[in-house]
Amino acid sequence: MTTQVVVVGSGYAGAGTVKAFENEIGEGEAELTWIAEHDYHLVLHEVHRAIRNPAVESKITIPVEEIKSDDTDFLQGRVVGVDTDDRVVETDDGTTVEYDYLLLGVGSTTAFFGIDGLEENAHQLKGLDDAKAIHDDVRAAAGEATQSDPVRVLIGGAGLSGIQTAGEIAEYRDKHRAPIDISLVEGMDEIFPGKDPEVQGALRKRLEEADVEILTGDFISEADEEAVYLGGGEAEAERLPYDVLIWTGGITGQPEVADVDVEKDERSNRVYAESDFTTSDDRVFAIGDASLIDQGDDDVAPPTAQAAWQAAEIAGENLARAARGAPLQSWRYENKGTVISVGEEAVAHDVMGMPIATFGGTPAKLLKKAIATRWIAKVSSTGRGLSAFGDM
Ligand SMILES: Cc1cc2nc3c(=O)[nH]c(=O)nc-3n(C[C@H](O)[C@H](O)[C@H](O)COP(=O)(O)OP(=O)(O)OC[C@H]3O[C@@H](n4cnc5c(N)ncnc54)[C@H](O)[C@@H]3O)c2cc1C
Repeated sequence: MTTQVVVVGSGYAGAGTVKAFENEIGEGEAELTWIAEHDYHLVLHEVHRAIRNPAVESKITIPVEEIKSDDTDFLQGRVVGVDTDDRVVETDDGTTVEYDYLLLGVGSTTAFFGIDGLEENAHQLKGLDDAKAIHDDVRAAAGEATQSDPVRVLIGGAGLSGIQTAGEIAEYRDKHRAPIDISLVEGMDEIFPGKDPEVQGALRKRLEEADVEILTGDFISEADEEAVYLGGGEAEAERLPYDVLIWTGGITGQPEVADVDVEKDERSNRVYAESDFTTSDDRVFAIGDASLIDQGDDDVAPPTAQAAWQAAEIAGENLARAARGAPLQSWRYENKGTVISVGEEAVAHDVMGMPIATFGGTPAKLLKKAIATRWIAKVSSTGRGLSAFGDM
């Protein structure tokens, strides 16, 4: 029987792997089944745009039919179980698919770190529906607010998602002259934690110019229906009332991965993978946010679209190599720089080939657009990529 390859997930990891595998595999060498919860690829690193303008949906969702070749079977469903002994994947409607090689590209979900009341009261931002729900809530609340009693939008967590979310809501506020106060709360001492002070400073400046209040140095310890509490217990904690609460403070693995018999980080369920993407089970590969890919020196690849995109190119080739019994290639993440939007503005940092480390203005804005356009063109078509340019 022909070797059966199964790829799970339609994010950067899954979609990119499918493309790379199709390019590499020869006729009759293997059959590919692609399983994902949605029948489209979501350009997640631009999903914050849909908070300002939900109509951007058509630009950031790409039907799988436009991505895969006719030879690849697509099965829509959420994978709920993987039996690594019998090598079978099961989806939520009970469908089972056998595999010889499996790639887990299921991404991540929001980590609430057990903070009391947070999950129940906060929006998260891990998909299109989340972005639309935030839009609806901000819009509805702004409709009832006045300049003297504005809507209080509070965003917890100032990484890529939180910063870009704050930027979009500020842009929405300005475009619609809506009475909205925006606060971005970060527990660490600076926004975009762990990154270069120059880019942190540039982002802070853009956010402050966009009239976003930045609160750093105190963690959210609790939330209820009306407020979050910073610092210690409720009695001594600082109370920050909100009307709309958004939590973008961390990621963790998908719950379904907990029962898959591969080595993983016990707390997060993110799967340990070697630099060739094999896991403790050599029939199971993992990349993207779902994984912790060894980079040597106790380091792992970052949970970014950039890393998932790079890894997928080699992972697709490695699945084809595994199918034909050839040696696998190693991968090492290459940081090509970061470009972060703050509404219509953007800040670029450490971008390969650029003489200046951190910059904004038109060059950064164009770069941000070009990155999304290039990815969309790569997985679908140049026309689709170009049509998204204006909205990114
Ligand atoms: C608002 C926001 C802004 C961001 N900005 C940037 C940025 O500027 N630059 C950058 O590099 N990164 C950015 N990121 C991070 C980046 O989007 C992620 O690192 C990237 O999406 C990871 O790719 P992935 O394929 O591993 O996961 P995802 O893109 O999340 O894809 C996972 C896929 O698996 C599917 N899935 C999940 N569970 C199952 C299951 N059990 N069965 C079947 N299918 C399943 C999901 O539906 C999805 O299709 C941002 C993220 C967010 C949320």
